[in-house]
Amino acid sequence: MIETMDRQSAITTVREEIVRAARDAGRDPATVTLVAVSKTFGVEAIEPVIAAGQRVFGENRVQEAKAKWPALIARHPGIELHLVGSLQSNKAKDAVALFDAIHSVDRTSLAEALAKEIVKQGRRPLLFVEVNTGAETQKSGVLPQEADAFLAACRDRYGLVISGLMCIPPHEEAPAPHFALTAKIARRNGLKLLSMGMSADFPTAIAFGATHVRVGTAIFGTRVPIRNEL
Ligand SMILES: *Cc1c(COP(=O)(O)O)cnc(C)c1O
Repeated sequence: MIETMDRQSAITTVREEIVRAARDAGRDPATVTLVAVSKTFGVEAIEPVIAAGQRVFGENRVQEAKAKWPALIARHPGIELHLVGSLQSNKAKDAVALFDAIHSVDRTSLAEALAKEIVKQGRRPLLFVEVNTGAETQKSGVLPQEADAFLAACRDRYGLVISGLMCIPPHEEAPAPHFALTAKIARRNGLKLLSMGMSADFPTAIAFGATHVRVGTAIFGTRVPIRNEL
């Protein structure tokens, strides 16, 4: 019970911070979508957050989402599910079937696999291209200098409609320059959506134009690794 109340008050606090950050930036708070990242948390932790009115959720693994969400979606109308983690091409079919948005389009093989499934299934998830703004070798995402060409290939070669960009700034760096760079690449490519900002930095991301903030820990609490790869 205490955890339930904690999570409901935590999401209220996050929503208040979003409103404040948007107003400070001279933006309408309604232009910022809160994606509540529920990865590693079970249905019992997610239900109270749904009860608090949240409808947009993020997961980073297709298998985990498949195990958790179909029952929740059946019980709660209007749930929108976002894939925020990297996606293997061989899971494109499951991802297109389950998710309403995919934040991690990052290579041509994946773009091709997604295009095929989108046509086959007649489903159109919102697509974001992930940009590796810190050029970190361990991170996925296209390099900033390759983003324009990749976006053109998504459109012209695969017929994909890309709606925005996503970035995850390097852990040890100030995030603002990374948000600014992502916003600049989006602007020059005519993309309206920006998926940026996590628990530690979402108010800064909103100042730089984030339309989707992906917040996990600040709502659900610290994640306990449940698998060795986490
Ligand atoms: C886990 C995760 C988040 C949420 O991170 P927090 O720091 O817990 O808010 C956001 N984006 C991606 C891609 C993630 O994997």
